[in-house]
Amino acid sequence: MTRSPIPPVDSEAVVELARALIRIPSVAGRDGGERAAAELVARTMSSFGWRPQLTEVSPGRANVVTTVEGGGGPGPTLALEGHLDVVTEGDRSAWTVDPFGAEVRDGRLYGRGAADMKAGVAAMLHGARALQRGGPFPGRLRLLALCDEEGMMLGAKRAVADGHLDGVSGAIICEPEGGEICPSAKGALRLRFDLAGRMAHGAMPELGRSPIPVASLLVQELATVQVDLQRDPGPHPTLGLPYLTPTVLVAGSLDQMNVSPGRAALAVDVRTIPGVDHSRLLDDLRHRCDRLGRANEVTIELTVIDDRPPVEIGAEEPLVVALQRAHSELWGRSAALGGVPGTTDGTIIARDTGIPTVVYGPGGKWIAHQADEFVEVEEIPRYADTYARAAQIFLWGPTP
Ligand SMILES: [Zn+2]
Repeated sequence: MTRSPIPPVDSEAVVELARALIRIPSVAGRDGGERAAAELVARTMSSFGWRPQLTEVSPGRANVVTTVEGGGGPGPTLALEGHLDVVTEGDRSAWTVDPFGAEVRDGRLYGRGAADMKAGVAAMLHGARALQRGGPFPGRLRLLALCDEEGMMLGAKRAVADGHLDGVSGAIICEPEGGEICPSAKGALRLRFDLAGRMAHGAMPELGRSPIPVASLLVQELATVQVDLQRDPGPHPTLGLPYLTPTVLVAGSLDQMNVSPGRAALAVDVRTIPGVDHSRLLDDLRHRCDRLGRANEVTIELTVIDDRPPVEIGAEEPLVVALQRAHSELWGRSAALGGVPGTTDGTIIARDTGIPTVVYGPGGKWIAHQADEFVEVEEIPRYADTYARAAQIFLWGPTP
């Protein structure tokens, strides 16, 4: 069996699929849109002769997974992953186009999810199709189009639980990264601190224990932790610095300004880099809460709402090498290695399975979630071709 050249993807069909996906407003949790998007992906897979498996993850939201056998003997399994949900279009008056109209103007495809990440989903399907049309290949591809990436990543968690990542040797997460190949991603912790003291009349505060000054001390303490974390391990070459950002502070009521409250809650969005150990950080925070609480006669309870560790694989990993080589061949220049500022489904896959994941896909890194979100039309087939070639290099192994 010889490695045959891969035919270029059907440019028109891949762009049409991206447009059809944008026209389905699969806003996370809204009106079953995610299921409708999953059904379109499943229909497309069936039309390619593949057997999609559609799983309802929660009402109106579904995962679609399929395996494309190479038919060329034993070999590794490469996963290509994308999510089907989009964030809200927000204020429609901020858009100059219909957010779900999939309008093409001056070479750009506009719409919510154009970059994040319906172009990526379309590209991974047509890339897999092109590789298959090029003849048998060793191993297989597994394609995963999942729900709820923008929320709690229920789709990725479910895909892992359903065994869809079993035996997979590497995963390309097709999120928009502006031409960068990203073997690293920031980690995230969503934390909630509940402070409980004792309520009192505002005229007799000495009879109560207000958690408000303690919450203020806690915020200052978090700033100290941030300074320490930024000093050690120091800035990451592509991900920059870790941050602990208080995002919500609730205490008392503006309708009851003569009441010294008994309770307060603080939410903190923590973003970490490789070298920050989440469990050690959490132990440290719990320690500080205990000390601060005891000193002020207020209890502070820390709840971890979500724990997504930072991801990093080496530049010498076969998946990174395959993507770099494919990108250089198809784009005529080498791609920069970058880092993902947020978390992706790849974070869950890496956390729960240890599979090497790399994020690489069509669209700008910073355009996601904005009004007038777009992707360059020309990029969609180009990424699909690159996925096909990278898959070929990865699955055949590093022969010339
Ligand atoms: Zn995304």
